[in-house]
Amino acid sequence: MSGNFAVSATGLNKQVVTRFAPSPTGFLHIGGARTALFNWLFARHHGGKFLLRVEDTDRARSTEGAVAAIFDGLEWLGLGGDEPAIFQFERSARHAEVANQLLAQGDAYRCYATPEELAELREQQRAAKQPMRYDGRWRDRDPSDAPTNAPYVIRLKAPREGETVIEDAVQGRVVVQNAELDDMILLRSDGTPTYMLAVVVDDNDMGVTHVIRGDDHLNNAFRQLGIIKAMGWEEPVYAHIPLIHGSDGAKLSKRHGALGVDAYRDEMGMLPEAVLNYLLRLGWGYGDEEIISRERAIELFDVSGVGRSPSRFDIKKLENLNAHYLREADDARLAGLTAPRIAVRLGMAQLPPGAGDVLALAMPSLKPRAKTLNEIAEGAEFLFKSCPLDFDEKALALLDESARELLGKTADALDPVQDWTVEAIEEAIRRVAEEAELGLGKVAQPLRAALTGRTVSPGIFDVLFLLGKVESLKRLNDVGQTSAGRSN
Ligand code: GLU
Repeated sequence: MSGNFAVSATGLNKQVVTRFAPSPTGFLHIGGARTALFNWLFARHHGGKFLLRVEDTDRARSTEGAVAAIFDGLEWLGLGGDEPAIFQFERSARHAEVANQLLAQGDAYRCYATPEELAELREQQRAAKQPMRYDGRWRDRDPSDAPTNAPYVIRLKAPREGETVIEDAVQGRVVVQNAELDDMILLRSDGTPTYMLAVVVDDNDMGVTHVIRGDDHLNNAFRQLGIIKAMGWEEPVYAHIPLIHGSDGAKLSKRHGALGVDAYRDEMGMLPEAVLNYLLRLGWGYGDEEIISRERAIELFDVSGVGRSPSRFDIKKLENLNAHYLREADDARLAGLTAPRIAVRLGMAQLPPGAGDVLALAMPSLKPRAKTLNEIAEGAEFLFKSCPLDFDEKALALLDESARELLGKTADALDPVQDWTVEAIEEAIRRVAEEAELGLGKVAQPLRAALTGRTVSPGIFDVLFLLGKVESLKRLNDVGQTSAGRSN
């Protein structure tokens, strides 16, 4: 691993340019988001540029919906590109131009092998237990041998002797014997460029200095270097980061949380800063620091801190970070994020006017007990329910005859409270407990059940305060009158 990555060959003299190059065949998954983050941070750390390239050359599998989902996920995470995104397919003519240039300068050749011939070659190699590779049958043939008007592909004339070395900033020195790399296709017989060619041409034209991507692309790098060398272009610094595995060490799958980032936002109720912090720590570390803000990450990040072994995805850690960031987050912002979730829970199109203010006021007592926005929504929904409440079983069990009596006394004690403050409410409730010779908890329990329909809620004085006097008394009276109050 090179510790001085930033000052290596291409790093210092030129402005650092990184890129994230997703293939739009699905959502922005968590591994892709981490790759984007590392590229973004690396560029920021070095005062460079972070670019986006949509690798949409696979026309059958690329969709507009996927492009939108990827941009949406990047925007949510604050990882937008510094320039408008490049769409690879639009650059096909330029890719073909480079293939033709390689042809003209003798670093590529036309290959007329038919699909049948190649299938036969593969069959022979399989039978002989040899690695399956193109054998270079058109590499040195006289062009005058070419059949007239027959389709051909353009192949790179790759070196056959020697070795190709990559000093990878994460993987270290990786060497491949050139004999193992066959003459790959650059341009197909229909004139379309291959993915391998497109990546190299685009990286060059975009001025990419550092290629930071998943280590599933390490093998590609050796082939891509062949084109770079033949064109005499400057080699980028490569940093192939280990993939993310599930908590059990197996390849990450949906079961482990290999979902689109939108699932973390929408279904799980995570904050972007928590997801970013989590992704940052997934494979990269700085001492024991767990909580690392975006600013601090820009200051500290370097690929030299990325480990070589696969990192394990741990949803519990992500939840704990999310809990931390929820506690730090602005209450009005959290109110805005949770209001639609509460409305959905209660089957309403939206919460009534003024709900945002109530929610923001409630946030200090809601957020310390929540790990996700969903849990805040769950804890907050009692505020917007209408009577009769839907009591859960445990709450119902608490509302027996003697509890109802106690609730009657509580209502009587609260009724005269003029100044509806947490302090005044607390004083009234304490008096009820004293007079009944009960501990405060014994009074609070049925009270909570009657006011929220649940046995878990923010502190009972806060509940009363947040509901307001009118609504609190209404709910207490309601319990007295409805079946909820009868023991069952
Ligand atoms: N489009 C490739 C992918 O989505 C990335 C290629 C690259 O980073 O060079 O995996």
